[in-house]
Amino acid sequence: MNEILQVKNLKKYFPAAGGTLHAVDDVTLSINYGETMGVVGESGCGKSTLGKTILRLIQPTAGEILFEGQDITFIDQKKFKALRPKMQMIFQDPMSSLNPRMSVSQQIAEPLCIFKVFDSREALYNRVLELMDTVGLARRYFDTYPHELDGGRRQRIGIARALALNPKLIICDEPVSALDVLIQAQILNLLQDLQKEHGLSYMFITHNLSVVKHISNTICVMYLGQIVELCNTKELFGKTLHPYTQALLSAIPIPSLKNRREKMLLKGELSSPVNPKDACRFAPRCPYAKEACHNSSPELVDVGGSHKVACHFVKEINGI
Ligand code: SF4
Repeated sequence: MNEILQVKNLKKYFPAAGGTLHAVDDVTLSINYGETMGVVGESGCGKSTLGKTILRLIQPTAGEILFEGQDITFIDQKKFKALRPKMQMIFQDPMSSLNPRMSVSQQIAEPLCIFKVFDSREALYNRVLELMDTVGLARRYFDTYPHELDGGRRQRIGIARALALNPKLIICDEPVSALDVLIQAQILNLLQDLQKEHGLSYMFITHNLSVVKHISNTICVMYLGQIVELCNTKELFGKTLHPYTQALLSAIPIPSLKNRREKMLLKGELSSPVNPKDACRFAPRCPYAKEACHNSSPELVDVGGSHKVACHFVKEINGI
């Protein structure tokens, strides 16, 4: 078995004013051992909800989540506790995910204490130092507090906490979007090095397609709770097929005066994820929308290679 994670027709709905909010709607994907899947989309597209549902931080509505072949979709939290060390999360804003009253060492030691990994204080102390070294956090910060550190160092604490229990899968929820560009590059490099060293698998959630270009094996693009394009990274950047992904890609600045890319500006309103009708959810903003797009929702279908796209007119639009 190559897949560490398989998600099949996963749904997460929330009650909302006027109906039901379809935050994650029929999502199917898989992540191979030692690989990274980038999950990309605008704020509110359901990507973070997808990550939290997979980790059972919120309860799924329907579908299947298989971790190393084991169905974990609805297992009770007591049973899931045994799996928790293998599946960890790195959060977007390190300041709000850390406890301001705990020192760096206490934050890193916390998961080890909860799971009673060590019998002696000395072994715990040594493991915390080892984790600080692993994530490049100088030992002089052992007794400092999050507010005394910059964003990059705070995120390193979050990464050390996620690594503490030797996980196999880490869901990184916008781990660099609160950081400046230079620090972003450092954290991305660190995550890649850790992946090579520890054979980790990542789901990397971001709103920025360019961030995942160099670290993902596959990319899944989400729009209003659904996957609209899914394929390996090379193919996605070589031939972007869905109009929404094309718009996302056109928004990435190219640092060259000669090779300018024409920006595809999206007009129109985002449709509501509450009681969505049977139609393409991107139709109100899609420059290629036709009547059929407003009357039926496109399925995510194979269009060759590793490429899957949800668009009624993908062949016509791209001449394939
Ligand atoms: Fe655009 Fe229609 Fe394709 Fe949706 S199905 S992306 S509206 S062309």
